[in-house]
Amino acid sequence: MPGIRLDSVSKVFDGRHLAVDGVSLDIARGECMVLLGPSGCGKTTLLRMIAGLEVPTEGTLWFGRTEITDLPPKERGVALVFQNGALYPHRTARENILFPLRMAAEDAAEADAKVTGVANILGIDETLDRFPKTLSGGERQRVAIGRALVRKPRVFLMDEPLSNLDATMRTELRQEIGAMVRDLDVTTVYVTHDQVEALTLADRIAIMRNGRIEDVGTSEQIFHDPATAFTAGFLGVPRINLMSATVRVTDHHRVSLDFGNQSISLPPIDRRSLILVDHDGERVIVGARSHAFTTAASGEANQLTGALRALEFHGSEWMAFVQADIELINPDLVGRTTRTTTPEHGGGRSRHANAAARGSGLSTLIPGVRQVQDKLLRRRRPHPSTPHPTTASHRRADLVIELNDARGLRPGTKVHLTVDTERLHIFDESGHRIDRITR
Ligand code: ATP
Repeated sequence: MPGIRLDSVSKVFDGRHLAVDGVSLDIARGECMVLLGPSGCGKTTLLRMIAGLEVPTEGTLWFGRTEITDLPPKERGVALVFQNGALYPHRTARENILFPLRMAAEDAAEADAKVTGVANILGIDETLDRFPKTLSGGERQRVAIGRALVRKPRVFLMDEPLSNLDATMRTELRQEIGAMVRDLDVTTVYVTHDQVEALTLADRIAIMRNGRIEDVGTSEQIFHDPATAFTAGFLGVPRINLMSATVRVTDHHRVSLDFGNQSISLPPIDRRSLILVDHDGERVIVGARSHAFTTAASGEANQLTGALRALEFHGSEWMAFVQADIELINPDLVGRTTRTTTPEHGGGRSRHANAAARGSGLSTLIPGVRQVQDKLLRRRRPHPSTPHPTTASHRRADLVIELNDARGLRPGTKVHLTVDTERLHIFDESGHRIDRITR
């Protein structure tokens, strides 16, 4: 069982569509790496390159110390399960699982024992003699997983294997896949856009956006210590509140975050204060998950205040929507860039042709493009004293806060929020963390 290494891997379709952009990633032996991201961010393309079903336009892939960039799929020892693990309709579940062993001309008795073993792990022993059309979606998917695993792959790849199942079945099979991946100790890459699957299954998660990896870490690292505002917004329910603010530094080096009609000061000893003194007058994005706020009975200094606009009962907790007249930012739009593509990508440039470009994305292949982009972005950045223009990523909306107890609250009630400044994340306007990431 090897580890997997992706070194500056890119994929351009039809010479102009940049689907994966300079991805480098190390996956350890036996690790379960989840590729998580919105639709179209390049997860499946990356997975298919690991499987050998797509040829990278740039970069190299390795299994352990062996380069596999040009190795045909059959020689990679990879098992792949798709969304809809298509089974042979005229073969029973047992025959479906047996099929790869027959193709490999394995001894019949040994093959039967292997099928029984895999069926045991997956809890489908009772269904082995049934045909696919008589099985539930979850059972069919288990058979597909069994067929993929029965030959003991070196690497196990799954592409949204639960997305066609109902909620109950998803939870059940998700737990089983988690247990199975850990038991089998096989290097696994799992593609999903479902944060619960990612958080529960992954040893580590790689968050993808626009063909690139924005952040890699354990579930807890990414949740509590996100590298970008987009990452912060992708994990967590309710979504993180991203508030637009201006940094203000007093003559005594006291730092406050000015939200327009209200502000909060950071304690002088807060490490963020030490960093933010250098950002006086700059616009920043302040990320605060629900647990950074506590409701206070009365107004005190250094709180945020708003009016409760709506209250939703979610079973064991309440969701409070608080209108605080703070400009909130949509995590999906912050720092969004369009993919850079160029006719040169289709010009037969070999993936080995431009080693110098590796590590920084295909857009660097065009001399000077990055510099020009950076210059334009710098130019667009407003002067500290000018009012900040409202862009597509900005909107006036509600702070969303989870409450265990909503007694005494009703729409229109004034709400005082004490902010735990230790739990704030500060990003620059393009969504990158300013304060140190502590991993
Ligand atoms: P989803 O979650 O919706 O499956 P994804 O993150 O897996 O999305 P990909 O399927 O890898 O994304 O697609 C990445 C981008 O590449 C998309 O914009 C897609 O339209 C494009 N793409 C994928 N395959 C091809 C292809 N064969 N030809 C052209 N463009 C493609």
